[in-house]
Amino acid sequence: MHIIDSIDYFYLSLPEILDISDGSQDALLVRVISGEFTGWGECEASPLVTIASMISPMSHSTCKPVAVSALGEAIESPKDIYRIHEKIRRNSADLLQADHALSGIDIALWDLLGKIRQEPIYKLLGFNQAYPKVPYYSLLFDTTPEGTFKKARQAVNDGFKAVKFGWGTFGRKTLQSDIDHIVAAREGLGEDPILCVDAGMIWGSDVNNAVKRLPTLEKFNVTWLEEPFFALALDEYRELSKRSKKVKLAGGEAAHNEYIAKLMIDYAGIDYIQIDPGRIGGITSAKRVFDYVDKSNKIFVNHTFTSHLALSAALQTFAGGKRHFLCEYPGQISQLGKDLTTTHLSPNKDGEITLPEGPGLGLNPNLEKLQKYLLNVHINVNGECLYLTPPLTQ
Ligand SMILES: [Mg+2]
Repeated sequence: MHIIDSIDYFYLSLPEILDISDGSQDALLVRVISGEFTGWGECEASPLVTIASMISPMSHSTCKPVAVSALGEAIESPKDIYRIHEKIRRNSADLLQADHALSGIDIALWDLLGKIRQEPIYKLLGFNQAYPKVPYYSLLFDTTPEGTFKKARQAVNDGFKAVKFGWGTFGRKTLQSDIDHIVAAREGLGEDPILCVDAGMIWGSDVNNAVKRLPTLEKFNVTWLEEPFFALALDEYRELSKRSKKVKLAGGEAAHNEYIAKLMIDYAGIDYIQIDPGRIGGITSAKRVFDYVDKSNKIFVNHTFTSHLALSAALQTFAGGKRHFLCEYPGQISQLGKDLTTTHLSPNKDGEITLPEGPGLGLNPNLEKLQKYLLNVHINVNGECLYLTPPLTQ
């Protein structure tokens, strides 16, 4: 019998965090141990807040610390993970950070189960095979159109057949500036590669501002416009989806559970649903969204902007979906993001990404390299130590 003996959290950070939209500047790594087996996961979340949610004393019966619901539980099959997942959702229903914290634990539990059963996670999820995915290189718009052009050209030279530009200056200056960047991106890529644009929620809830960009997006064959509005501006998404003839909408990275994702699919008119297992509630919730999307004519895509540990977790959840052919490939992650794993998921000779066949996630944290990023956290209340970072070891 395999019992969850311990769950620990490691706050990793670059020496300096910049006010830029790069989510790989810090990380929260989760370690779950059962006997001789260790599973790893990563939360796409503010690390310290999430550690606090793991250990904060019970506030009332549906506001319990997240980790306590998993400790001491048996883990032998996927059913055990579903049971623990449900228990955490119930016990911490009133703790807003719980979805983020659960995400890291859930991923680590799947990795742990994969190692116990000596199988990759996608097989445990019921897929017979993992189809290669076409990576779309995820890049930030440059400060100038010339810079955006160069980034696009470089991506093509590096062998990418799909590129997404986002954030940066887009939507922050004039309409003409946005047009110039889209023209530069398309010219840099050439005619064939897929081009997507991520507006990074820049228009909040202003539909008209988004509508003004549609003719250019259409003219330069942009496959999707991502996150034009705040994540739950569902009416605005719905309105824009009706007013856009050709350009599809993408979103979903901010979904914190499968119910939000379903609303974005069914009500908000999103065609490309982008799920981050590090936010939505782990591999369990992401796979549920995949199953739902797969029954429709919409497309499931991962959202990944941190490490290749997170990338593997995301790919496992839609590995068997041949129709869902694109994957977000984090192109500009920090040195911490690169150092997070000992191996990386690099494009093969056809420029596609394939999952490793190793057990669990198929790759592991680079514990040696990560030591220098580790921040020691000590949470003390009334003289009692609630949390002290343990040594980062296997
Ligand atoms: Mg995005």
